[in-house]
Amino acid sequence: MSQSTLMRWSVMFGLLLPSFAYAHVGIGEHGGFLHGLMHPASGLDHVCAMLAVGLWAAQMGGRSMWAVPLTFVGVMALGIGLPFVEQGIVLSVLLLGVLVAASVRLPLWLSGSVVGLFALWHGHAHGAEMPEPASGMAYALGFMLATASLHAAGIAFGLGMQRLSHKRLVHAAGAGIALCGVYLAVA
Ligand SMILES: [Zn+2]
Repeated sequence: MSQSTLMRWSVMFGLLLPSFAYAHVGIGEHGGFLHGLMHPASGLDHVCAMLAVGLWAAQMGGRSMWAVPLTFVGVMALGIGLPFVEQGIVLSVLLLGVLVAASVRLPLWLSGSVVGLFALWHGHAHGAEMPEPASGMAYALGFMLATASLHAAGIAFGLGMQRLSHKRLVHAAGAGIALCGVYLAVA
């Protein structure tokens, strides 16, 4: 990436940051599948956490590459409630960012548990934002699809950078995500 492109991105990022900061706070209009699909893309916290899941999965490789994101989407779909939802989501952005930045390798049972716990919080928050029951199912499907796409984007970026021997860019992305977590914690 050239320096000017990088700068343009960081300026854009800085401008968008405040307005997109919260996916988990209800946003006016609600409408089934499309809303579910668009919703995660409009929230910095969700985008950051989901990209981090994909990046981390790509770093660990092997079976984890599929099992970790699938665990997230599967557990999120359960919609089981946990207390401290907002804090849990901020923690998920922070910790997942750190795990990627430091390229931490965990056995699958442990990485699955970490991601599964975060998925409970995200599932609870997004479940609570669901529109009226009639379109709830479509909303949930759209949301899961968008989440899985963000995972896939993270995996694709992670694998691409590994192939180009730019692993450090993945670490930097993780550090950026962790910084988002810090921003969300103080915002
Ligand atoms: Zn989320």
